[in-house]
Amino acid sequence: MTEIEKKINDLRATLRYHSDRYYNDDAPEIEDFEYDMMMRDLKSLEEQYPEFDSADSPTKRVGGKADNSFDAVEHTVRMESLQDAFSKEEIFDFDKRVKEGAGDVQYVVEPKIDGLSVSLEYVNGEFFRGSTRGDGNVGEDVSGNLRVIRSIPLKLNTALDYLEVRGEVYMPKKSFERVVDRQLLNGEKPFKNPRNAAAGSLRQKDSKVTASRGLDIFVFNIQQIEGYELNSHKQSLDYLRELGFKTVPYYERVDSIEKAFECVEGIGEKRGELEFDIDGAVIKVDDFSKREILGSTSKFPKWAVAFKYPPEEKQTKLIDIEITVGRTGVLTPTAVLESVHLAGTTVSRATLHNQDFINEKGVNIGDIVTVRKAGDIIPEVLCVNEKNSVSNYVFPEICPSCGEKVVREEGEAAIRCINPECPAQLLRNLIHFCSRDAMDIEGLGPSIIETFVNEGMIKNTFDIYHLDKEKIASLEGFKETSANNIINSVEKSKQNDLGKLIFALGIRHIGEKAAKLLSSHFKNIDNIISASEEDILEIEGFGSIMAKSVVEFFSKESALQLVDELKKAGVNTESLSVVEDNRFEGKTFVLTGTLTSFKRSEASKIIESFGGKTSSSVSKKTDFVLAGEAAGSKLDKANALGVRVISEDEFEEMIK
Ligand code: NAD
Repeated sequence: MTEIEKKINDLRATLRYHSDRYYNDDAPEIEDFEYDMMMRDLKSLEEQYPEFDSADSPTKRVGGKADNSFDAVEHTVRMESLQDAFSKEEIFDFDKRVKEGAGDVQYVVEPKIDGLSVSLEYVNGEFFRGSTRGDGNVGEDVSGNLRVIRSIPLKLNTALDYLEVRGEVYMPKKSFERVVDRQLLNGEKPFKNPRNAAAGSLRQKDSKVTASRGLDIFVFNIQQIEGYELNSHKQSLDYLRELGFKTVPYYERVDSIEKAFECVEGIGEKRGELEFDIDGAVIKVDDFSKREILGSTSKFPKWAVAFKYPPEEKQTKLIDIEITVGRTGVLTPTAVLESVHLAGTTVSRATLHNQDFINEKGVNIGDIVTVRKAGDIIPEVLCVNEKNSVSNYVFPEICPSCGEKVVREEGEAAIRCINPECPAQLLRNLIHFCSRDAMDIEGLGPSIIETFVNEGMIKNTFDIYHLDKEKIASLEGFKETSANNIINSVEKSKQNDLGKLIFALGIRHIGEKAAKLLSSHFKNIDNIISASEEDILEIEGFGSIMAKSVVEFFSKESALQLVDELKKAGVNTESLSVVEDNRFEGKTFVLTGTLTSFKRSEASKIIESFGGKTSSSVSKKTDFVLAGEAAGSKLDKANALGVRVISEDEFEEMIK
């Protein structure tokens, strides 16, 4: 294999790998810009060495493969990609090609929304089906998930025979921040950027999840229409608005490529202020008949071009490094910078990820660094240009929030604070405490807990047991009934088994099962608190990491105070697990007369729980007749057969 052939193959393999991460996993590992530059290299090599060209090359393919977890939809009109340009020259070259093919044209310029492309079909003016682009020919039927996007009309203002439009589903920046916040709170891996978040949210099995993600759409093209005649792009965008669609904003029609490029620059300047992510601007030939003359390649139409804004980079001084403690206890370093203007916004902070990143880049306070806005949202320190210190920045050894020692566990990049009562972790601990497998406090879900914390009603876990009904009912969105329900489930949780409480405390390495074992082994919380590592190791299945973690947890003053306050509030701290006791095994009871201390059904349950049986008639096989007041014929029969008759008092004695 020649050097060139090898290079081409390597590039193809790398691009395929990243395309898979991007389209199928919604989790890219490299920046779009890097991907685009590799694609350029491959394209120019293929042009230079046509002998190595291949129909299977990523340069000829659109998007990713359709996933088989949704039904396949074959697109009658291919959902094409766009050719891209990174400079003014390339835009003018595009114009030259257009003029050569179709003469003078008008262009429409619009923002290129960074989301995922979908097709929406309507029959007789009603939403019929929606699908993803997939590889351009076959996509996935995601109708159910598209229906929950409010700005997608389910009924058009005109009952057209048939309509297929194309739009870009995106996640507004605000929704993205909220979704990522929630993911971090739940200890999940957060989405990298709004585009991946949109793609991941649209391909959910459960539409409720999609609905909770706050997706939106901009429609930008008519693919097919029956029942109405349209001649140009501008006309079709205006008509789509009339039909009830939310069309791509800021579109403008111009007469020349110079003006078109001015529009591209104008959109670029707006970029940072927009509510949604864009990765470029698209210039399209307006006249449909001219589009037809120009045609398409195997991948994109020749009548449109996407100008991609390069990621902007600037040098600035790193003034300070701030450490924040996330809700999962992870310490994150943020660079405080001398402000610079980047991609439409003023940047004065950038992420430094973790200690490894700092060491790798060799960063310290006072250095001059290059910052870049990656994925357009979070600025990142790219490299050090001028080092003004000998060493690299080193993380503090104590948590800036609570002052406890921080730890870095083997194999982990993150340094974390493991103090369960660290105020920075309160919210996450509360959510865990109330969750179903823990204290199971129905009604106290993540968002309500967050509200109560923000309102200052919960400052510590035990405050859950002192919530004020009137105060809850007075909050926006709450009523007396919802307040009542919350208070009732808080009350109910006081009766939980000790195992649930131990799990709820969130002791590291102690899962649900281990918590149950601790509870049934030690019977009450005081015994667990005073247990040594050796005592705990007596439980089958417990290892030293778990035992150490329990002892460490209860050695903290804050944990003991928490237990104390929970006890004071009336939370059960005893094991409720039933001891195996078959004292009535093989014995049959008959109940007769009126019992005063329990109902008959209760007495029967007690007998059964001790392994005994109850019967409704007396025979020789009956072992005991439990006789209450005014017992009648059954008592007589028992006496006649010589069966032992017991009183309620005797029965109570037997079940003690
Ligand atoms: P593209 O995103 O560059 O352009 C085509 C898409 O633009 C269309 O599918 C359409 O949905 C969308 N679009 C948004 N607004 C539009 C508008 N107003 N008019 C017309 N179309 C509009 O091409 P692509 O084939 O979808 O994907 C390639 C992109 O994906 C590149 O930007 C590339 O960087 C990125 N990518 C990144 C990675 C990675 O690892 N980071 C991997 C694969 C692809």
